[in-house]
Formats: sequence, C-alpha cells, structure tokens
Amino acid sequence: MTLYFKNIRIISPLQEIDNHCNMLINDGVIDYIGTAEPVLTNDVEQIDATNLIACPGMIDMHVHLREPGQEYKETIATGTQAAANGGYTAVVCMPNTLPAVDSVAVLEYITSRTNGNLVDVYTCATITKGRDGKELAPLLSLLEAGAVMFSDDGSCLESAEMMRRAFDYTSEHDALLTQHCEEHTMTRNFAMNEGTVSAELGLKGYPTVAEDVIIARDILLAEYCGNRRYHAAHISTKGAVRIIREAKSRGMRVSCEVTPHHFVLTDEAVRGYNTNAKMNPPLRSMENLEAIIEGLHDGTIDCIATDHAPHAIHEKECEFSNAANGITGLETALGLGLTYLVHTGKLTIGQLIEKMSINPRKVLHLPQVNVKVGERANLTVFDPSEVWNVDLSHSCSKSQNSPFHGVQLTGKPKYSINNGQVFRSRL
Ligand SMILES: [Zn+2]
Repeated sequence: MTLYFKNIRIISPLQEIDNHCNMLINDGVIDYIGTAEPVLTNDVEQIDATNLIACPGMIDMHVHLREPGQEYKETIATGTQAAANGGYTAVVCMPNTLPAVDSVAVLEYITSRTNGNLVDVYTCATITKGRDGKELAPLLSLLEAGAVMFSDDGSCLESAEMMRRAFDYTSEHDALLTQHCEEHTMTRNFAMNEGTVSAELGLKGYPTVAEDVIIARDILLAEYCGNRRYHAAHISTKGAVRIIREAKSRGMRVSCEVTPHHFVLTDEAVRGYNTNAKMNPPLRSMENLEAIIEGLHDGTIDCIATDHAPHAIHEKECEFSNAANGITGLETALGLGLTYLVHTGKLTIGQLIEKMSINPRKVLHLPQVNVKVGERANLTVFDPSEVWNVDLSHSCSKSQNSPFHGVQLTGKPKYSINNGQVFRSRL
C-alpha cells in the first residue's frame, strides 16, 4: 500500500500542526511530509488532495457491535466496516452483549476477532456480573485482559453502594468508570423526553432530572472515594452540562461525551411517531440542545461519541412505544459534526478533531496518534466541504435505523488508514 496525497491539509492539534503539504504513505508508515515533490515509483497511487484534510484517526468511544449474541443486528465485522466507512480507525465496544462482557473469556473472544483489523477495537467491560447491579465483575482481571473502561451501559448501575465499591476496588489501578445516567424509577416505560411534545403526543416521558440526579450522585461518589476517574456517557441535558462544568472547575477528574443526534435533533423529531427518533437518552428540547452546544464550545463536553446502536427492521417498524431505542451513528457522525458544529461556527475544525480523535484517547488513557514521518499511519482523511445526501444503501452496517437518511450534509469522510490498511469510504 503506497499512497501519495498531493497538497493535503494536515491538522493535528496536539502537535500544533495545521499545514498544507504533500504526504507519502509507504507500507503503512508515513514516509514523507513536506512541500517538495518526492520521487514516486509507478505503483504509487496519487491522490489530488487539494480539498482534503488528514487528522489523527478518529476514535468512537461508545459503539454497540452486538457480538456476541445479537449478530442479527450487527457483527464485529460489519460494525467495524461501518466505522471505517465513517472515517474511524478505532472504536470502543460496549459490554451489553449476550453474554455481557463480564468475564475475561468474553473480552478475549472480542479481542481475538479484532486483532490486526484496520479498525482498532477496545473493549468496555461491565461493572457488575450480568449487568444486574448485584455483584462486581472481576474488574482487576478484566483490566489486566485489556478493558479500557467499565460500565453497565444499556442501563444504569443504580446501586450507589455498588458504584462506591467499584470506585474503591479499582482505585489502586485508577480505572475509568462510565455510566449510562438514568434513574430508572423515574423513566419506567418511557417513550420520549418528558415535555410539551410528549404531552401532545400522549407518550410517556423521561424527565431530564432523571439523568441529572445520577450524574450528581456519581460525581459525589467519585469525590468521596478520592477523586476517581468518572465519565458520563451520552449526556443530553442542560443539568448534566451544568453539573459536569461545576465538577471540572473544582478539579474533579470527570469527563463526558455527547452523541451527534443530541446536538442536531430535538424531541420535535418524534412528531409523526418516527421510531428512528426514539433513543435512550431521548431527544430533548431546544433549551437542552443549546446547553449541549454551549458545553461543546466551552470544553465542558470532552468527546463526541455516536452510541451506534444497530437494530433489525422488526425492532423499529412497530408501534412507537414498543420500538427499540437507538440509532446507527458511525457513518454520519463526522458529516453531522462538520455541518452542525463547524460550518455553523460553533467549533473550529481543530476543536472537532479534538472531540472525535484526541480527547477520547485522553479520557481513556490511550496513546495519542502522531502525524509525522516514521510513524505508522493512523489517519482519518475527509473532505470538509463536499455536499452529499446520506444514502443508507451505502452503509456498511447490518442495520439501517438512522433518522438521517436523505439528509444533506456538508463534509464527508474519504479514507480511513490504519494498521497498514486503507479503506475508501463508500458513502
Ligand atoms: Zn447507554
């Protein structure tokens, strides 16, 4: 694999790089970066990259690959293809599989199926066995086997006592706990956000405070246990942003992520009972969306993660209240970020790259990617200004449950390059 990008813009915020130059990638390694024209052999693929940007490979820290156990929705193979198609070179897969990732055996099963792939797959293991909140999973063995964080995601770990024990038990290893923040007694049988739209549609609501109370509680526990590392997954409320901003200002080691759908859509999208607007946490009101964008802008929100949640047709084509929660996200995230955050002036391109590539690695304590000669190429290459319509027939995911089919975006992934392999986006 030898690729020559002529006149590409390289943006690598951590290295303080933002330059137009030529870049040669030879055998998976960056061979040349500069303004001169290196001598090229005949087998080199030359790409006019005048409109393209290369940045450190994007990582999505919240992805449901569904394997083992729900391969009818997605497999590790199709999920990682979708990731590469969306410009990602790494994902973290969530542990609510069947069986759950609560043992070294399941974790090693996932690792064995992903070694050497273009997309690096890191694993989040459960906090409790079977995600039932009653008994801790073997956290230290899971850490040793490579788990990068712990969560009972899919649902909230409701027991404050178990959360406290997990913080204490892993304190010596400084493990990262992440929470799906939902106080379940307040959200039973919810179909959407609680507000005027739910009242008008006659659907059971999930109040924002049910998210906020868990974040507040967990931050108090993390503090009580000696300022432990804590990450709030897919936050969606104004209260969550306020609580995390305040905790960070006090020096708490707290971080959080937001999904593209929570900075693009509001609960108005539920009108018409489109089940592709049904998720957990639900789409919120404009007031919450604005607070999320403010949190992205001021740095309270560290990361953009998709919560890629593939579901089969029969799980979405049904009555709204019975439909499964969640949407696919890997292939639309970069386009949505560019369209709704960068081209609207809310974030610079560099800040978007930080939230999709650099900050997740910081939060997860993973090594950062350097774009320099001699390093292995781990790159996302995208066109920030190409206008395109999302067409799910070009998706590599096994499922097509996205509300963004047919939506026009500005900015498109082009290549994912990692581990000596190149993926050309089919979007
Ligand atoms: Zn979740």
